[in-house]
Amino acid sequence: MHPWPKPPGGPHYSVCHFCDTLHDATALPEGKAARCKCCGAVLYQNRPASLARANAFSISALILMVVVHSFPFLVMDAAGIRTSLNLASAAKALIHEGSPMLGIALAFFTIVTPLVLAGGLVYVCAPLLIGKKAPGAMIVAKWMNKTEPWNMIEVFLLGVLVSLLKLSKVADVHFGIGFWAFGALMLCMAAAVAGIDRDELWDRLEVAKR
Ligand SMILES: [Zn+2]
Repeated sequence: MHPWPKPPGGPHYSVCHFCDTLHDATALPEGKAARCKCCGAVLYQNRPASLARANAFSISALILMVVVHSFPFLVMDAAGIRTSLNLASAAKALIHEGSPMLGIALAFFTIVTPLVLAGGLVYVCAPLLIGKKAPGAMIVAKWMNKTEPWNMIEVFLLGVLVSLLKLSKVADVHFGIGFWAFGALMLCMAAAVAGIDRDELWDRLEVAKR
């Protein structure tokens, strides 16, 4: 078990994001959440086995990314021709077929952003399991925070499912291994990001040794 350490010195404060009430911020036991005394909103929480969870789900996400890019995402049969598609080839096709912005956006939101987020979480959280801080971990953590809102793999998956309804009228469409791996990747990314509270991660980085 890794208790949540607070940086030495203090006192530490936490402001409610909803009603701006200022609270004394103390370290919490595992599984507990601090709530605002005025509106009841969660201020910060110490999730159970947070570091181990964030690491396990991020590593799983990285492995699933390899599977997603190694196997077909969709296989289509139309007029006797079989076409298989994966994420990278779909982005490349969009760039070459006259929709470069869409292709770049697809690559950024579904390939680059999840990779930065999952890779960053492993880089920052794995050394923290033994109380160490990776070089530049603070900068990586800042970039992870900036990247998080741009991780849109669930939006993409929803878009694929909607467009499949239309595609199925003109072609025989099958899901490839890449598609199922992408679904599992979506769940792993959500679990990895939700695994550790940002305040907790920051405090752990503050007190960790190099
Ligand atoms: Zn409040």
